[in-house]
Amino acid sequence: MGTKTIKYRNVCDVIVPGDLCVGCGICAGICPESALQIVWNKYGEYVPVEQAGRCTECGLCLNVCPFWNQQQNETTLAESAFKDQNGIQHNPVTGLFMDLFAGYSKVDDHRSRGASGGLTTWLLEKLFTEQLVNRVCCVVPNNVPDALFRYSIVDSVGDIRGAARSAYYPVELSKVISEILNVDAKYAVVGLPCMLKGLRLAMQSNAKLKNRIVVLVGLVCGQQKSGFFAEYLCAISGGCSSKLKSASFRVKDPARHHLDHRFEFTCGSGQNETAGSVYQSQGMDWLWGHDCFKINACNFCDDIMAEVADVTFGDAIAEPYCYGNAGANFVVVRSQLIRNLLVSGASAKEIVLDKVPIDAVIARQKGVALLKRDDLRHRLYKLNKSDSSYIPVKRVAASRRLNPCRNLDMQIRDQLRDVSRSSYAEYRHQPAVGSVVQRAISRVLETFVRGNWKSNFFFCIASVAKSVGTRLGSLMRILHKFV
Ligand SMILES: Cc1cc2nc3c(=O)[nH]c(=O)nc-3n(C[C@H](O)[C@H](O)[C@H](O)COP(=O)(O)OP(=O)(O)OC[C@H]3O[C@@H](n4cnc5c(N)ncnc54)[C@H](O)[C@@H]3O)c2cc1C
Ligand code: SF4
Ligand code: SF4
Ligand code: SF4
Repeated sequence: MGTKTIKYRNVCDVIVPGDLCVGCGICAGICPESALQIVWNKYGEYVPVEQAGRCTECGLCLNVCPFWNQQQNETTLAESAFKDQNGIQHNPVTGLFMDLFAGYSKVDDHRSRGASGGLTTWLLEKLFTEQLVNRVCCVVPNNVPDALFRYSIVDSVGDIRGAARSAYYPVELSKVISEILNVDAKYAVVGLPCMLKGLRLAMQSNAKLKNRIVVLVGLVCGQQKSGFFAEYLCAISGGCSSKLKSASFRVKDPARHHLDHRFEFTCGSGQNETAGSVYQSQGMDWLWGHDCFKINACNFCDDIMAEVADVTFGDAIAEPYCYGNAGANFVVVRSQLIRNLLVSGASAKEIVLDKVPIDAVIARQKGVALLKRDDLRHRLYKLNKSDSSYIPVKRVAASRRLNPCRNLDMQIRDQLRDVSRSSYAEYRHQPAVGSVVQRAISRVLETFVRGNWKSNFFFCIASVAKSVGTRLGSLMRILHKFV
């Protein structure tokens, strides 16, 4: 298991060809020779390309890449960052944690404009106004057709607020890292688990980054999508995807459930500019849950809660911690500094903050845990059986899954990922791309049903058995109460 004995010069020799690049840009930002540049590949994903004649084979890009097999992993990185924090505990789903909270921001429009409860924006603002940091690296709308969002370094409350909501769209850190290396200041960085892992690794090998990045703010992450996801949503909602100009994910509608948010877009220009939207419940959640346009590296990720971050924010957990329909967060705290800020924010009535039991947090992430633990074990098993020369070493061991339902489920999601990715890339510049890709997705489903009727039959029997089992279980619990 692991990497066969091949000498790789840099990430372009192994991570990119292995389709394990998540496009974080950290390798390009840290390379001392500026030998790597982040570009779009033909599938709407960011990847590094090598600039000829510059690489000295120093190995730094590999050492910071979240998908390279270093000595360090999320567990060891988190241990060295937080082991001295008072009352720190460990759970396999959350990683290290000092406290678990639920809540939301009551300040201005943080909550209504936020992806969840707006606590991320509240905390970034607090870090800034209390002068604990003087620059914040966050993701802002870019409104340029070939990069609708980008990482930016901001230094005003207005700009921190302008970065609210989640971008289900590729963003990369190479320019931000160069700027941090050039400008001496105290920085907070908000990011997804893989990006923060790469940053922690980079901070270990670069003293400037280590001294200047003082807070890492993490987001829970189930998966990331390619840039074509936004284009496809535009196309199937009647817009012109080749002229997509701006996009906004997770716009809230007070009349709907807080998780039934919508994607909004504008496309075209001048008098021909049009706007449109699509709700989660109008098919967007199906595309999300069936891995359409998912970045392949996410299939080999085992970090749910940004374990190396000082604090991690996720979506509302179950009642009573949803606080109505306007959106809420759960929060995993790993540093005393952040804990103090949150607790004093709650005392000042700027935020609502309640302690939550760990079981409620784990239950909320059950679906993501299936992908990042159960699926991952089986994926690693399959990769080990293949002739792949590079196998990422993860914190879960490779093992064959004997559950045919889960294996079939993963198989169909993989096929849907492949077909959405390749058919959109092929027909991207045709006006009917939306319906072409829709048909390609339908064909995969039809073929799957026809080709797997035996296993599907088994699938049905197994599902019925499971549902009967669950019903029997509840019946037994009810009977138990009365007997
Ligand atoms: C790709 C992705 C997948 C996610 N998956 C899950 C999930 O499965 N389960 C779950 O509970 N939560 C998930 N989240 C987190 C959730 O969507 C919210 O971001 C989180 O709850 C914080 O909400 P908030 O209202 O506090 O954030 P806000 O106050 O709206 O602030 C959000 C902050 O996140 C930053 N940001 C937005 N997009 C990105 C990005 N792509 N990369 C880095 N930073 C970004 C912005 O700069 C902003 O500062 C995901 C987020 C993303 C971006
Ligand atoms: S090996 Fe060193 S010089 Fe070559 S691309 Fe990587 S970081 Fe740059
Ligand atoms: S560091 Fe990031 S961008 Fe570079 S190869 Fe690794 S995953 Fe890709
Ligand atoms: S699923 Fe993992 S690899 Fe993919 S974007 Fe999220 S943190 Fe990164």
